[in-house]
Amino acid sequence: MVRRVAASDSGFTVTISARGAARLKGGHVWVYRSDIVAAEGVPPGAVVAVRDERGQVLGSALYSSSSQIAIRSISHEAVTDFAALLRQRIRDAIAYRERIVRDSNAYRVIFSEGDFLPGLIVDRYDDILSMQILTQAMDAEPVREAVISELTERLQPAAMVERVDARVRQLEELAPRESGLVSGVKGATIFTMNGVRFHFDALEGQKTGAFLDQRENYAAAAQYAHGEALDVFCYQGGFALHVAARCSRVSGVDSSRPALEVADRNAALNGREIEWIEANAFDLLKDYASSGQRYDTIVLDPPAFAKSKRDLDAAMRGYKELNLRALKMLRPAGILVSCSCSYHVSQADFLEMLADAVRDAHRVLRLVEVRGQAKDHPILLNVPETAYLKCVIASVS
Ligand code: SAH
Repeated sequence: MVRRVAASDSGFTVTISARGAARLKGGHVWVYRSDIVAAEGVPPGAVVAVRDERGQVLGSALYSSSSQIAIRSISHEAVTDFAALLRQRIRDAIAYRERIVRDSNAYRVIFSEGDFLPGLIVDRYDDILSMQILTQAMDAEPVREAVISELTERLQPAAMVERVDARVRQLEELAPRESGLVSGVKGATIFTMNGVRFHFDALEGQKTGAFLDQRENYAAAAQYAHGEALDVFCYQGGFALHVAARCSRVSGVDSSRPALEVADRNAALNGREIEWIEANAFDLLKDYASSGQRYDTIVLDPPAFAKSKRDLDAAMRGYKELNLRALKMLRPAGILVSCSCSYHVSQADFLEMLADAVRDAHRVLRLVEVRGQAKDHPILLNVPETAYLKCVIASVS
C-alpha cells in the first residue's frame, strides 16, 4: 500500500485578523479571505498553521488560494501528518454511520465540514462509493490516495466513482477533470432505503445519485400520507415511491425527462403504478388549482431557490406561491409535506412563509413534524452552514 504524507505538513503559516480569530474561537471552521492578514508564499491547497496577529497559534487549516473561504480549520492542534488525520476522520465517519443509519444501504459516508473533512463528500449506494472533491487541498494527489485507500480498506466497495462539479473546480482554479470510475469496474447497482428499491447509475444519465438527505423524511411522510397523492419536484420518485404503499393513487411531477425515466424504472422495480408528469411545476399547480383538482397528500420538494442571500426575496415568493397553491388543493385532513433545501432560508423564515400562505388560503394547519436533513448529514451547531434542509409535515383542514 502506498502511504505518503499528504499535501505538505508544510511549515507555511497564515495570519488572520482578530475577527477571523474570533470566528475560529467561536467554533466555526471557516475564515474568509477578507480576514486573511498574511499568506505569503502559501501554495494552493497547503496544510497551514493558523496564527492571529499577535502570533498566537490557533491550529491547522486547509488553505485555498482562490475561494472566498480562504481557510478551513481541521484541528486546534498542529497537524504533523495530515494523511494519518484524514484516515482517522474517515474511520470515525464510518463508525458514526454504523451507529445511526437504519434500514438503508445508501447514505452519506462523509459530509465535508460535518465530519471535519472539509471539501470531501462521499456517498454510498449499495457497494458503489461516489466521491466529490470540492477544494484544492482535497484534490492534492497524495490526499486523494489516502482517501481512496482508507475507504477501500474499510468499506471494500465493488467500485468508486468520482462525480466532478465543473463549476466548483473552476472556482477552486483546479484543472478540469472528468467524472468516472476511480477504482473497480461496476457502474450501476440497486440500493434499498426503508424497504424501497432504487436504481443507481453512476456513469450514465444525470450522475447525481439520490437525495440521501431526504431518506428519513421519506419514511416520516409515508406514515401520514393517504388517499390521492401528488409529489411535486419528484426527481427519480423518492417521495412518490415511499407514499405509494399508503396511497390509492400517486402522481409525480418534474421538468426533467431523464429523471422521470429513472422514476418509471424505479416504480417498476417496486411493482408500483405511478403516473409521471413532465411539466413545469409552477404552471401545473396553477392549472390544477384553478381547474379544481384536489388531493389528500401533496409533497413539495423544489430545488434550492435561494443560492445566495441576494435571491432570498424571490425565493420566498416562489416558496409561498407553491405552498399557497398546494394548500388550496388539499382536501380536508390533507397532508402537506413541504421542503426547502436552501441554506439561506432559515427554519424560522420557512415557517413564517408557510404561516402567511395558510392565512391567505383560509385554511387551518397543524404541524405534525418539523424535520431537517437525515442524520448521516450531521449538523455542527457552531457551523450553521451545515444545516440546510427543512421538511415540514402538516395536517391541513
Ligand atoms: N423530491 C426529490 C428531489 C427533488 S430535487 C427526491 O426526493 O428525490 C428538485 C427537482 O426539481 C429536480 O428533479 C429538478 O429536475 C426539478 N425541477 C426544477 N425546476 C423545476 C420546475 N420548474 N418544475 C418542475 N420540476 C423542476
